[in-house]
Amino acid sequence: MSISQLARSIKESATLQLNETAAILRDKGEPVIHLGGGEPKGRAPIDAITTCTAMLNTGEVRYTPADGIPALKKAVIRYTEENYKRTVGPDKVIISSGAKQGIMVALQTILEPKDEVIFPAPYWVSYPEMVKLAGGVPVVVTPEDGSFQPQVKEIADMIGSYTKAVIINSPNNPSGAMYSRDFIAEIVKLCEKKSLYLIMDDTYNRLVYDNQAPINCCEFSHNFTQQSKLILINCVSKMYAMTGFRIGWTVASQDVIQAMTNIQSQQTSGPAAPSQWAAVGALTGLQTSIDSLRMTLENNRNVMVSRLKMLSSLKVTKPAGTFYCFPDFSAYEKDSQKLSKLLLDKVRVVTVPGKEFGMEGHLRLSFCGTIKEIKEGIERIQWAIDPSSPNELYLGDRKLVRDWA
Ligand code: PMP
Repeated sequence: MSISQLARSIKESATLQLNETAAILRDKGEPVIHLGGGEPKGRAPIDAITTCTAMLNTGEVRYTPADGIPALKKAVIRYTEENYKRTVGPDKVIISSGAKQGIMVALQTILEPKDEVIFPAPYWVSYPEMVKLAGGVPVVVTPEDGSFQPQVKEIADMIGSYTKAVIINSPNNPSGAMYSRDFIAEIVKLCEKKSLYLIMDDTYNRLVYDNQAPINCCEFSHNFTQQSKLILINCVSKMYAMTGFRIGWTVASQDVIQAMTNIQSQQTSGPAAPSQWAAVGALTGLQTSIDSLRMTLENNRNVMVSRLKMLSSLKVTKPAGTFYCFPDFSAYEKDSQKLSKLLLDKVRVVTVPGKEFGMEGHLRLSFCGTIKEIKEGIERIQWAIDPSSPNELYLGDRKLVRDWA
């Protein structure tokens, strides 16, 4: 069968594929612990549910404007005022089906064929594939010091005549690292000076711990409300535990938003109406659910980090945000895909190989599940990788015997 060269160049999303594998194994009754997930376990806020249900009860579920319903744009404008201290008009906002579609349509809006897009490693699995889908070329900058903190100079050194944009995701999936205020300030300034688009993926911006405040990139932008090349991405997915609703939004210059709207109007039309109303409910209702999610996740993080630190062969960096930890397992096994497969095959723990995020030797472990899952998952990992652990482990009434080195 003839499949396009572009389609053949695109990898399946490793994280979504792992979700499927975990679901299949669970259906077969396997005692799977899913530390590979990318969504909080909690319920969506009650205001999201009631607003969505009220809309559904009218029985009138119609197309919406391609750039989203006015009520949700209004809620996004308020969110932007409160969290970014910037007042924007509705012509600078577009609602999309998740942050994922927002980023994808933004890339299709700004890239010419072969334009380069720079982003630091480790990076969210989808960036390279999205850039390729939009006809561009991904350019990865790996911090030389092996840390999760990119240096502005390393990014500046990669800028060439084909560079069109930089993508920054902080707090970062998969490392959980939050980039410093200075870094964000300098990268905003660098992109403005070089006239590059800066896609700021703030998907996890509100999920930061240890009493830190989220960093507001707009603070460092001189012309955010005019001809700015700053493209600000957010979503309800993580902070309100609303991944399945598929609602995200982009705030950018009027020209970018207009072009994004044209593309979206031909591609998918406006996002699902009930989901948009649910997002209105979440954004305009009681905000306590974010605080309680943050508290739960911070506690989960502390448990995960303290347990992981007991494994002497790992290098663990405490995540400052998100719900991911990205320990370095290379002292035990350098090939992250091999290690991830071993953990799934032998002890039924799902992890995501660091290679998918552009950083070998690491595994991404999520702490968005329950404390019990975190503790038991790490116990099983420890048993699997520590040669001095006992030869047998019981998963329920199933006895596992170590038959590997
Ligand atoms: N950006 C990052 C860094 C993410 O981790 C994710 C989701 N895993 C997204 C964007 C996409 O979010 P959404 O579910 O709203 O499409």
